[in-house]
Amino acid sequence: MLIIFSFLIIHWYLSLFSQTFFLHRYGAHKMFTMSKFWERFFHLFTWVTQGSSYLNPRAYAIMHRMHHAYSDTDKDPHSPHFFKEVFSMMWKTKVIYNGFTLRKIKPDSRFDKNYPVWPSLDRIAAFNPTRLFFGLLYILFYIKFVPDGMWWMYAFLPIHFLMGPIHGAIVNWAGHKYGYRNYNDGDKSRNTLIIDFLMMGELFQNNHHHYAARSNFATKWWEVDPVYPVILVLNKVRVIRIRKEG
Ligand SMILES: [Zn+2]
Ligand SMILES: [Zn+2]
Repeated sequence: MLIIFSFLIIHWYLSLFSQTFFLHRYGAHKMFTMSKFWERFFHLFTWVTQGSSYLNPRAYAIMHRMHHAYSDTDKDPHSPHFFKEVFSMMWKTKVIYNGFTLRKIKPDSRFDKNYPVWPSLDRIAAFNPTRLFFGLLYILFYIKFVPDGMWWMYAFLPIHFLMGPIHGAIVNWAGHKYGYRNYNDGDKSRNTLIIDFLMMGELFQNNHHHYAARSNFATKWWEVDPVYPVILVLNKVRVIRIRKEG
């Protein structure tokens, strides 16, 4: 039982780190720079940790830049204020995401540049049999380690299959609906937790919309963004270079 919970927690945080560090703070916002070698390293890391629910950095960056530019208006790809529940919001997000990855929707050119590109990796990672292969690995892991008689544990498997979109759903829904505000910029973004241990800083949506280039999502002395110390260490050891100090 402990092995399954450990796997779930490790998968949750590694996949989330890829999303917040690589896709969001680096890919969409360029809060820091890194060499091509490290970009490829973290791109590969994102694929392995997101596995079956790998998100394409280009589509992520375009959608996310639209989210900032049109926050909580009808042009926002995923504002919770236009949906009754989270599933229809995520379905629309998926349709727009597919539109960008399949190049059926042409984005505004100002959003469509300056993101990590590795076409061969993207092709392999987004290839459906590859996604199924990762899904199969999760299932085999569960078959090996779920103790006899504890069938209910298999109910956690869908979290592994859909890890990336689940993180997106929590952040986009809760981060623009529940919590407090430090800044009033006309949108409905909120800070949901004071110490964001759950979503690694992503739930400081209100702070982040106000200071979109700042690599530390916490802005008050009593707020904690757990990824910021990691960014500082990576900056110190010269893996990345922070563009604007938090
Ligand atoms: Zn937001
Ligand atoms: Zn952002």
